[in-house]
Amino acid sequence: MPAAACENPGMMQNNFYSGAGVDRAGPLRPDTDWVQSRVASPDARVLPIWREKSLITFANGSQDEPRMAWITVAEAMALSNGKPNIILLGERDGTSFFAVDLSHLDNPADVPVLAQGSFVGLRDVGGLLDRADGALLAYAKGLIHWHERHPFCSRCGSPSEIRDAGHVRVCTNPACKASHFPRTDPAVIMLVYMGERCVLAHNRRNPQKMYSTLAGFVEPGESLEEAVAREVEEEVGIRVGTVRYHSSQPWPFPGNIMLGFHAEAVSTDIVVQESELVEARWFEKEEILNADKYGLRLSRPESISRRLIDDWMHNRV
Ligand SMILES: [Zn+2]
Repeated sequence: MPAAACENPGMMQNNFYSGAGVDRAGPLRPDTDWVQSRVASPDARVLPIWREKSLITFANGSQDEPRMAWITVAEAMALSNGKPNIILLGERDGTSFFAVDLSHLDNPADVPVLAQGSFVGLRDVGGLLDRADGALLAYAKGLIHWHERHPFCSRCGSPSEIRDAGHVRVCTNPACKASHFPRTDPAVIMLVYMGERCVLAHNRRNPQKMYSTLAGFVEPGESLEEAVAREVEEEVGIRVGTVRYHSSQPWPFPGNIMLGFHAEAVSTDIVVQESELVEARWFEKEEILNADKYGLRLSRPESISRRLIDDWMHNRV
């Protein structure tokens, strides 16, 4: 990987998958008349999700130029088995954007209106998309995933139904009526460093030999700083001192927000947690800068992991 790939001209930008640029219209979502007016809007766009994948077209037939694709409300309704589950994402430049789950279709390629593109995993094209569109697709994917996984009330087990244009599910049991809101589970992700060295790891879940920062879920009853310290010690046996917040990234794979930190190590011996990691070790800045020469593959450019590495490389800690 050339050294230039480690530079981050977008330092002041939001992380990828954020910055969709939509007005989510939270106060208006419970107003069914207003929602209906948006649904009826002639230029409304619906982003279809099929089994966790997004509808993507490729400009000029090039795999390097993926574009967000959409269908109309009428088309989405016609494909929804008479049970429209169209969810409002928000308004952007006067256009209403919705999402719809079409996972019930056996083969979407057989549906003419969907044959304009193909359903692709967001991570397979993510970094090549327009940033705002990538964020909108991430938002759609996260919300659809939550609906798909929460058809029943977690309190009494009765079916729940969509309200507020898809931003609430309400239990249909009259004795319960519990409201359930979309979940985003927090995970911490951290670059551990000491002076001019940092710790990168090859995670067991990653089939390719890619080195990235450490990460883990926040547990109930702990602060983010405590979660960082615990995860680092569990995964590589290193103790950390100062923990500084960096930035965050929506991560709808399937329903997380990554909270990024730089964590200064106060010990150096690595003991790898083998259930999670294949390998972890200290890397010199020079190795990362000349990653190509060393055959070192780093986290994907659109990931917060990569941004944490890049900003540390350029002393933005
Ligand atoms: Zn209930």
